[in-house]
Amino acid sequence: MSTPDYLPFYPEEKPRQGYGVQYRFGRKLIPLTERRPPPKRLRYGRRIAQIGVAVTFVLMPRIHALRLDFGDNRLEILGRAIWMDEIWLLMIGVLFSAAAILTISVLYGRVFCGYACPQTILCDLTARIRHDLDRRLNAKISRNGKLASTAIYIVVTLGICLVVAFSAAAYFVAMRGPFWPIGGPLTPFATGLILTIAGVLALDTLWVRQRFCTNTCPYGAMLSVVGDNRSLVVWYDEDRGKKECIECGKCVRDCPTGIDIRQGPYQMGCIACGECIDTCNAVLPKINRAGLIAFEYGHRLGPPLMHPRLHGKERFGLFDLKRITLVVITAGMGGFFIFRMATLPPVSLDLNRISAGSTGSFLLNGGKRVANLYHITLINRDGQPHNFRLGVNGLAGLKMSAQNRRFRVEAGRARTVTVAVSAKSGQIGDRTRFLITATSVDSPDIHASVSARFSAPLF
Ligand code: SF4
Ligand code: SF4
Repeated sequence: MSTPDYLPFYPEEKPRQGYGVQYRFGRKLIPLTERRPPPKRLRYGRRIAQIGVAVTFVLMPRIHALRLDFGDNRLEILGRAIWMDEIWLLMIGVLFSAAAILTISVLYGRVFCGYACPQTILCDLTARIRHDLDRRLNAKISRNGKLASTAIYIVVTLGICLVVAFSAAAYFVAMRGPFWPIGGPLTPFATGLILTIAGVLALDTLWVRQRFCTNTCPYGAMLSVVGDNRSLVVWYDEDRGKKECIECGKCVRDCPTGIDIRQGPYQMGCIACGECIDTCNAVLPKINRAGLIAFEYGHRLGPPLMHPRLHGKERFGLFDLKRITLVVITAGMGGFFIFRMATLPPVSLDLNRISAGSTGSFLLNGGKRVANLYHITLINRDGQPHNFRLGVNGLAGLKMSAQNRRFRVEAGRARTVTVAVSAKSGQIGDRTRFLITATSVDSPDIHASVSARFSAPLF
């Protein structure tokens, strides 16, 4: 059997016996018949990815995987808390996120937009609802049906925006339980935040929609700078298209941003969703032709017969040193960040010396003793509450005002206390260092210490 001319990719592989007409989809040979067009695989993959992102978005604050608590000035990542004082760790997290976005963008172009962007997910969901409502209520032929469809669509969309706003607010507002906000009245801050987010989402979903992707999206603009001619794009095979495109226009009608991919692969409006690929793959097989649109790396665009097969790391887009370096740096930063998060001590102390009034940084007690005032923040990252006892050591004769008191700190919380540390005048000089310690009364192996500097008069 000779190789048929409608096999667009890898013509060295002959069709298998018994299958009749076939075409290649990814790594598989798919049989073509008029009765069974190939499934919309990219669309299914996209739906699964979008559902995964939506479930992750709702679950993350509930399982404390990511939360920014404005009330306590702390960030929760993977169940561990970082207070704003540990800004260096926060910076590593931010740099890692930026590196991950940059790497994905360089390798796979706008695939994030089509498969994981919350804006696209919301627009896809509401477009699906609108489509179903129009169909059920005969909106195309009935004026009343159109009015009813529009009214229901607006109400349902506003409801969805409100639900998403509750989930988004959970990233910033303390929740009362896994089913927050059910279970009690909301604070004024939470109410304001939820209504603001819901309002912005409603405006975006009901009016702006994919115009944001094509005109405003900063990620799309960034890609035009960091992307290069080897990034993954959605590509129309112009050579074959001249003879085989039947001008059905379905790829344009199904495109969520309404562009025509036949105009070229680097259009700002293309969010790489792959919808047009599925569409053309469903249309042309009916006349025993393979689809004309595919995902392809930028430097491989052109006559498909000249394409070598991709093997090994190149299948993942790792074509050059720049890409491999980006992946290695991102993996290194991610590994370091996760390691530091996992090895954070269960308890730590943060110290601030505060002003003692008109005498400046120290207090003189009748000339016999000199004292400094400190704000000590006890940070409890352990999974259970602890009672801490504070102490000072490192210098003889030091006393602390709260030495015999216990300070209870709830699990995953911080508590700030004010203490005075004093020493006999003449026994201690300016800038002398000593240690402030905190030990759990319930579990003495949980303890922390911080080095402090004493401020005393020079004479
Ligand atoms: S769906 Fe395919 S055949 Fe139809 S217009 Fe688009 S590229 Fe041409
Ligand atoms: S051109 Fe194709 S891949 Fe690009 S946005 Fe439109 S349907 Fe999605």
